[in-house]
Amino acid sequence: MTAHDYDVLIIGGGVTGLACAGLLRNFLRPRREPLRIGVLEARAPRRPAADAGPGLRVFAIAPAGRAILEACGAWDTLPPGMAAPYERMRVWQADSTPFGPGSIGFDAADSGAPGLGHIVDHDWLRLGLWNALADQGGGPVDLLTGASPAGLDAGPEAMTVRLPDGTSVRARLLVGADGADSWVRSQLQLPTTARDYGQLAVVGHVGSERPHQRTAWQRFTPGGPVALLPLADGRSSIVWSCFEPEAREISALADDEFGARLTAATGSVLGDLRVTTPRLAVPLAARHTHRYTGARFALVGDAAHQIHPLAGQGINLGLLDAAALAETLAAHLLGARLADPGDALVLRRYERWRKGANLLTMAAMEGLHRVFTSDSTTLTRLAAAGLGAVDRLPVVKRLLMAQAAGPADVARGRHAGL
Ligand SMILES: Cc1cc2nc3c(=O)[nH]c(=O)nc-3n(C[C@H](O)[C@H](O)[C@H](O)COP(=O)(O)OP(=O)(O)OC[C@H]3O[C@@H](n4cnc5c(N)ncnc54)[C@H](O)[C@@H]3O)c2cc1C
Repeated sequence: MTAHDYDVLIIGGGVTGLACAGLLRNFLRPRREPLRIGVLEARAPRRPAADAGPGLRVFAIAPAGRAILEACGAWDTLPPGMAAPYERMRVWQADSTPFGPGSIGFDAADSGAPGLGHIVDHDWLRLGLWNALADQGGGPVDLLTGASPAGLDAGPEAMTVRLPDGTSVRARLLVGADGADSWVRSQLQLPTTARDYGQLAVVGHVGSERPHQRTAWQRFTPGGPVALLPLADGRSSIVWSCFEPEAREISALADDEFGARLTAATGSVLGDLRVTTPRLAVPLAARHTHRYTGARFALVGDAAHQIHPLAGQGINLGLLDAAALAETLAAHLLGARLADPGDALVLRRYERWRKGANLLTMAAMEGLHRVFTSDSTTLTRLAAAGLGAVDRLPVVKRLLMAQAAGPADVARGRHAGL
């Protein structure tokens, strides 16, 4: 039995999937016949405790990502303190110091921008996106929750998703936004290249002896990068990537011992660090799906590509995917009344748009990871010298900052000529 029929069914209501639904709804508002959009999500977001402070899952969101989240109506719902602005970034190699010859820094003031980005709480952000979609004033989007799909049948006219209760959902386009272990990707048997770094990222929040100065600090050690991301309450969120044996060892340390090890790993850049939350260790991998699209399907976000978190780009890439897919579909669907959202040739435009940019970012992360965790001292010294050299080239630094910020008008549907 078919319970629902959609033009677009998005599997996965994480930040990428929800943003994709929100932008589609925005871009297609001028259409006489509204697009029928559904989001199927296994776990509906829960409201975090009001006084709990930022959760352990926070991300650095660049200005383009913010613009997308604003357009989706989620940014302004973030409670005070859940989006902490940062104005500077300082990156250095273990043999150097934060301002030494093997370091590089970015300052928003150099490019006249108000900031480089924000450190945002994932749970509040996802809740804001969800509630904005649930607010039917913006147009109907069905939020289907509480069940994971049981099976998928790919047909020429529709994708049919079978649910555990025996019902099914049909859609002319199926969007896989279901994260790094994507069910959609595996059902469609899409070839994927994967790399296990043999590393874990240890995350948590810490207080520091010296203020973070609204600066994101990152030190490359031979074991992996360790980052301190500034939170609004004066603490910093840590992402400490280390090879598995070390990650297991430091995860098991008592809080004060862990604080001392972290202080040393960060080169005491903020003085003594003390742990203020439980710690979590997350396995790190990189994956890239060879095809993002085909007849009646498209993948976005981590379902299509997963990267090392060392430059905090994963969700930013996912949001740009969401915007590019929504814009490509809107350009097509606003152009002709009978246009089909599952048209493989149209979906291929989205893939061409995003794949190159995603691969480039992945290659850059891979290069940085390899060079700085290499056993070759010559190589790491050369890389450190490279950081220092770029640091002395303001034009190149401005270009890098513009690249990291992302396209300014991404949420307005300009790129496909809307
Ligand atoms: C330690 C660490 C730090 C990071 N820091 C940053 C950062 O600073 N900046 C940044 O940009 N990125 C960062 N990232 C990357 C970022 O977290 C991911 O890129 C991002 O969360 C991916 O979002 P997504 O919506 O694509 O997938 P997910 O967040 O994984 O969402 C997928 C959704 O799909 C749902 N789902 C899954 N399977 C099914 C199914 N079968 N049926 C129904 N629903 C399903 C899940 O419940 C979930 O809600 C970091 C990652 C790590 C590990």
